[in-house]
Amino acid sequence: MSKINTDMHRILKERFNHDTFRPGQSDIISSVLSGTDTLAVLPTGGGKSLCYQLPALMFKGLTIVVSPLIALMQDQVDSLHNAGIEALLLNSALDWDTYCVNMDLVRSGVVKLLFCAPETLSTGRMQDLLAGIEVSCLAIDEAHCISEWGHDFRPDYNSLSTIRNLFPKAVCLALTATATPKVRKDIKDSLGLKNCTEFVGSFNRPNIFLEVTPKWRKKEGGANLQVEQFLEEHMNESGIIYCFSRKQVDELSAYLKRKHFFVLPYHAGLSSEKREKNQQKFICGKVDIIVATVAFGMGINKSDVRFVLHYDLPKSLEQYYQEIGRAGRDGKPAHALLLYTYADTRKINFFIDEKSGVEYDSAKEQLRGMIEYCESKGCRRKVLLAHFGEKYESYESETTKDSKQSGCRSCDICMGGKSVNVDVTIPVQKLLSCIIRTNERYGAGYVIDVLLGSRQKRIIENKHNKLSTWGIGKEYSKDDWFQIVQLLIEEGFLRKSSDYNVLSLTQDARDSLSERAIVMLPFVPSGKTGGLK
Ligand code: ADP
Ligand code: ZN
Repeated sequence: MSKINTDMHRILKERFNHDTFRPGQSDIISSVLSGTDTLAVLPTGGGKSLCYQLPALMFKGLTIVVSPLIALMQDQVDSLHNAGIEALLLNSALDWDTYCVNMDLVRSGVVKLLFCAPETLSTGRMQDLLAGIEVSCLAIDEAHCISEWGHDFRPDYNSLSTIRNLFPKAVCLALTATATPKVRKDIKDSLGLKNCTEFVGSFNRPNIFLEVTPKWRKKEGGANLQVEQFLEEHMNESGIIYCFSRKQVDELSAYLKRKHFFVLPYHAGLSSEKREKNQQKFICGKVDIIVATVAFGMGINKSDVRFVLHYDLPKSLEQYYQEIGRAGRDGKPAHALLLYTYADTRKINFFIDEKSGVEYDSAKEQLRGMIEYCESKGCRRKVLLAHFGEKYESYESETTKDSKQSGCRSCDICMGGKSVNVDVTIPVQKLLSCIIRTNERYGAGYVIDVLLGSRQKRIIENKHNKLSTWGIGKEYSKDDWFQIVQLLIEEGFLRKSSDYNVLSLTQDARDSLSERAIVMLPFVPSGKTGGLK
């Protein structure tokens, strides 16, 4: 091990109290320490901060960290202080006295890390201050904000290209959690990172189950009911529900509260005290569920979030990825469910139409990516990772005949579309009445033949070709009907006798029939129709 390498490991242990580097960290840190401009793309939670914090302790001069998130910077500075590391924050929110004291500290050279918002860094007095000191490293956090192709473009970040030129000797480290190949190129161009090394960590989060399901319309009971049913399957689990608008957040959280779930709302329309309070209650587990707009989640450090439910369509896959990434940080199974209806694109397009030029094009393209993901017939993980320029190596090479074994094994599509519920009220009514009409005395094969209008001998002899349910199921194939039977058995609607596999209805099924209840099941029709001679 080289001297630098040994020092890195020692500092990791002594100053940060970690035993090993996370994937990518040591390569990124070595690259920065060697003075090479570096672009690091690591997923949220991947440990980006360490990539500038650790080198900062090894560099002679100052490390400037640019971040757009003032609140998060304060947290970082506090935790660095706790670890005995000299870090400071300079921003427009500081009062004059503190600002002056901090300036003096920077000048004296004891400070190793200086955190600033981009707009602070471009002020004259800041640049005067920095002119007199040695800057070793310029770290740009959330570097995707520089790109108009990113999901979070911030005009303030434009000034960074000029700032970069003020410190030609400093090595530049750009960090981000979300960067498509296009955004990566933008970052490198804008910051003038020439001959830079690029590290892209894997974006795969194998413990998150990815699912997109049709959003229930009114006649199916509505999306609120759909959420309620999902939550019933996730009792006492901690989760986040994302909605498009504040109004939707208020409505849904009120609805769920009436249904006795422990929920709180979160959006920019609430006072900052209220937001802080609700967020805190969620983090410490006093409430299970936060219903929120995109405003929620930046820097949330809660490892046991078990589900993220998207009530509305996100604007981009970047946004979606970041939001679902808040689930399952502890590595245990988590569920990302998106309720999809094409109609929701209208709300987003409404805002896109306000934009113009490259912003308009970019927003349109991002929305298209999101729609493609939702409408994909292939593995969701593959589509999602491909969006970030990552090729997903699935298990396909070792695929067995069982389709449930192929792909990522952790998305609705790879699990055979099992969890996409569709409205099967009508076919279920047909099947159940056919079983009743034949007096609950036959197996699935026979009942299905009746539905398909078969004239086989036994059916004619029993005069079942005279039943009103004879031949009313030709819209589906025999296999489709078997699938429905199987699903109804799993659902507890049908019972199979142990001897002759005779089908009969449970009380649930009878209730559902008499109430004309809507039945949603993960049915995947083959597209073929039946019909028998
Ligand atoms: P990011 O900015 O990439 O989202 P952070 O820098 O906030 O991630 O790090 C996420 C968490 O991982 C933090 O709690 C941090 O202390 C922890 N962490 C970072 N590096 C390591 C490491 N090498 N070993 C253990 N924990 C680490
Ligand atoms: Zn998959």
